[in-house]
Amino acid sequence: MKDQIQKLFIKKVNFIANWKDLKSGVYDSNTEISVCIECGKDIFFDENRGLLVCEECGLVHSEKHIDRGPEWRAFDADQKKKRTRTGAPMTYMIHDKGLSTMIDWKNRDIFGKEIPAKLRGQIYRLRKWQSRIRVSDATERNLTFALSELDRMASNLDLQKNLRECSAKIYRDAVEAHLIRGRSIEGVAAASLYAACRMYKVPRTLNEIAEVARVDKKEIGRSFRFISKELELNLNPTKPMDFLTRFISELGLTTKCQKMAKSIIRIAEERGLTSGRGPTGVCAAAIYASCILTNERRTQRKIARISCVTEVTVRNRFSELVENLNLGISLKKSNK
Ligand SMILES: [Zn+2]
Repeated sequence: MKDQIQKLFIKKVNFIANWKDLKSGVYDSNTEISVCIECGKDIFFDENRGLLVCEECGLVHSEKHIDRGPEWRAFDADQKKKRTRTGAPMTYMIHDKGLSTMIDWKNRDIFGKEIPAKLRGQIYRLRKWQSRIRVSDATERNLTFALSELDRMASNLDLQKNLRECSAKIYRDAVEAHLIRGRSIEGVAAASLYAACRMYKVPRTLNEIAEVARVDKKEIGRSFRFISKELELNLNPTKPMDFLTRFISELGLTTKCQKMAKSIIRIAEERGLTSGRGPTGVCAAAIYASCILTNERRTQRKIARISCVTEVTVRNRFSELVENLNLGISLKKSNK
């Protein structure tokens, strides 16, 4: 009994030592935390959520745990041999996937020693040539330009990283399928971004994309239809529901209002009031209706501006909703 307690105590001390490492952010996978502080059972690493969790009692020992493993998978020794390499993860957002050599700007060698003055000129020339040959031909130069455009637009629209990766992949596929010929790079890049947004269910309207792009809405739409057909992207049409959460939060409305708008949209979908109409317009009208019902007044103009439609559209969709669904709103009163 005494032995057991002592053992547990030692484990606990070890754990606390590691815990300090964790807090100070120097934890790496070599520092073993193997037992639970509460029950002494084994701890496992939940890869999907980045948590260190006790398998017995479920106590979370570390959140936002960094997975320092490789980003690739290998199923046998041969594959492993092929894929093993060091460095940052591969990314589609850099034209060479981030795998080329970089010569840094510090005049220090690998051991941190200063490079002697007589060799500096040589290093300088090496560095210059390295940066020149990194983008070797016109195709690569175009790709670099397109990817930087994608990144610029995505930053302006506050889009997350995996979506950017996806848009870069779509653009690369389009290049490989020779779909860029006769089209502008900017147009296809914007279309790829639009497609990626649709794929990730964070829909941005063509208007929003066109605002940050260097081409107009028409061209983006044309390029989008072309590449989604040729690459067989099979995107579902956007629905009014996809925009709801974003518009509600941008208008600063409550969850009560959101719930109301949600059920209005659902009923409208059931009765076929959404087919053939722009999803943003229907969403805006549903929000306007629920604003009236929950007494959180927002003007049609404000709702129209946030949902990128005209006031007329909001008004038309709204009167359709009021006429067809029994909402208990009279049109005359609310249109004032
Ligand atoms: Zn436990």
